Amino acid sequence: MPETLEPNFEEERKFSDPLPAGEVKQPELDDAYDVVVVGGGPAGATVAALLADFGHAVLLLERSGQHRFHVGESLIPETYWTLKRLGLIEQLKQSAFPKKYSVQFINEHNKESAPFYFDKYNPHESSQTWQVVRAEFDQMMLENARQQGATVHCAAQVRDLVLDGGRCAGVRVKVAGEEAPRDIRARVVVDATGQSAFIASRLKLKSMEPHLKMGSVWSYFRGAQRDPGKDEGATLIIQTPGKKSWFWYIPLPDDVVSVGVTGSMSYMLAQNRGTAEEIFAQEMGRSPAIQQRLAASQRCDDFHTTRDYSYSSRQGAGDGWVLVGDAFGFIDPVYSSGVFLALKSGEMAADAIHAAIEQNDLGGRRLGCWQEEFRGGVESFRKLVYAFYSAEFSFAKFLKAHPEFRDHLVDILIGDVFKPGLDEMFAAMGDVLPQTCTVSES
Ligand SMILES: Cc1cc2nc3c(=O)[nH]c(=O)nc-3n(C[C@H](O)[C@H](O)[C@H](O)COP(=O)(O)OP(=O)(O)OC[C@H]3O[C@@H](n4cnc5c(N)ncnc54)[C@H](O)[C@@H]3O)c2cc1C
Repeated sequence: MPETLEPNFEEERKFSDPLPAGEVKQPELDDAYDVVVVGGGPAGATVAALLADFGHAVLLLERSGQHRFHVGESLIPETYWTLKRLGLIEQLKQSAFPKKYSVQFINEHNKESAPFYFDKYNPHESSQTWQVVRAEFDQMMLENARQQGATVHCAAQVRDLVLDGGRCAGVRVKVAGEEAPRDIRARVVVDATGQSAFIASRLKLKSMEPHLKMGSVWSYFRGAQRDPGKDEGATLIIQTPGKKSWFWYIPLPDDVVSVGVTGSMSYMLAQNRGTAEEIFAQEMGRSPAIQQRLAASQRCDDFHTTRDYSYSSRQGAGDGWVLVGDAFGFIDPVYSSGVFLALKSGEMAADAIHAAIEQNDLGGRRLGCWQEEFRGGVESFRKLVYAFYSAEFSFAKFLKAHPEFRDHLVDILIGDVFKPGLDEMFAAMGDVLPQTCTVSES
């Protein structure tokens, strides 16, 4: 196995000291809050902002310093509604982030689909979304949480839960610059730690997706081809021959494009494939579409890697704790659903936590009352992910046979997955989930 394909990059830093916080002055910490949110990615920043806006005392703890790098740049249209509720739409409109109107697929035979223009199906401003630089986008969201009244402390790594008679009653946190970890009490602890999945890992709740054991290698390129006009900010999903792997192609500001390749771990990590750079070059050699687009470009960053990232948590809430975003689960990057699901779960959790505090019922059932509906939405993405990877399945052939389901397909690409009726399409697709699809424990 090539040494360069590291285990998940989030896992890597689990036991390291928190990064020192840039130049921003960190706030004083109290001993107790209504809610402690662990993790300052999109999910954590959403919960913190909304709960602070409800008037609760909220502390968000993020282990990184300022401007942390993160993969996950392409948004999907349904993020609009949470971003609107957070008051961030105007800021995004003023930003340099490229506008994304569509997604386009190029199949293993190098045949391009027509772009799926989102506004064709829903002529509303929510149909245009953005390709974001995550360090900047996440910073924007954290700043917003701060402005709504949450206390945001960076360079603070949560190391343990504080338990009180079987319920979660707070966290033990190591703050950069302090000698020893300190305990902070909370009525509710929200785990938004992303792929670290702090609570699910601790309580052994993680169920890995046995048929989605994927690995990704990616980097950033300046001067790569950009399509003209409305297509300039489109996401391209480009399959390689034999569907062995696929590339994402995501235009970013400053003439930079994020380009990554994903395939099964058994394929990507096969012996003798070499370094991440060599694996990327080999896959690029199999993709005329990527060769053409990167021909005049210069790589402007290192290669990054991650793997084995698709899982869910069997339980999403307990007495005094609740999981959101990737800490609750993550399903393959192919449809760019991660940030949307982080925002959506953050929003649903915030409403549930507010109601739970109002009713003084902080039990797991109350805190997780939104999760059945949420899991239903994730399931639609999951089925479509399996269809994408299925050797026998072709979207083009399916839509030719069933043009009536084009809208359903676009609904999922957009993220409109929390509504009834999508199952009709999966029934027509046949059994896209593998027969042996049982979950395995991590
Ligand atoms: C290869 C790949 C490509 C992807 N591409 C896309 C894409 O194009 N579009 C998309 O929408 N999604 C994409 N995703 C998914 C996306 O990156 C995630 O779904 C999204 O970042 C989840 O947000 P989050 O807030 O749940 O977690 P994160 O963004 O991971 O945030 C978690 C935060 O918690 C902090 N943290 C962790 N542990 C602790 C601790 N103990 N104490 C304090 N802080 C802690 C971390 O530092 C981090 O800042 C991709 C994922 C992968 C693997």
